[in-house]
Amino acid sequence: MNTSLMRINLRKTIIVILGVILIMEMTGCDKPKYKLEFDGYGFQSKKTEYHEGEKVTVTYDMIATDTDYNFYLDCDDVELKREWDSKSYGYTFSFTMPAHDVKISVSSRNTMYIDPDANKAPSETSPVEYDNSLRTDIWFCPECGQKNDMMYCAECGRKKPD
Ligand SMILES: [Zn+2]
Repeated sequence: MNTSLMRINLRKTIIVILGVILIMEMTGCDKPKYKLEFDGYGFQSKKTEYHEGEKVTVTYDMIATDTDYNFYLDCDDVELKREWDSKSYGYTFSFTMPAHDVKISVSSRNTMYIDPDANKAPSETSPVEYDNSLRTDIWFCPECGQKNDMMYCAECGRKKPD
């Protein structure tokens, strides 16, 4: 066996080892990562991809006082914890990354606009309502001369004479 042949064999071995390492890196023998997506404006996170089991923290600080917010994930196998951060005046969410992509969504409604009782027309329940059973013919009060159409004088309160 001559030295040049040995050198070729050694080179082949190195190339094979390098190739195996490269393939392992490319196929991710490493743990896979899953995407964190946001549906709605205002969410912030340090990363957009997380390993399974990794703690994910998302902040949301686009808070308006006259608005109700509802936050949810697109899956029900993850528990979303919500905390109010009074320093940044926003919410902090945390959950453990599952073995799939996760999307966090927000739906908001303006309480000023949606609340059906807030815009109720006052005419529906008018507080000024005459009791028609007290209505009577026109009469003039013998006491004060007030013209009346109710059982009692609008001026002095005297009852209509029989
Ligand atoms: Zn009267």
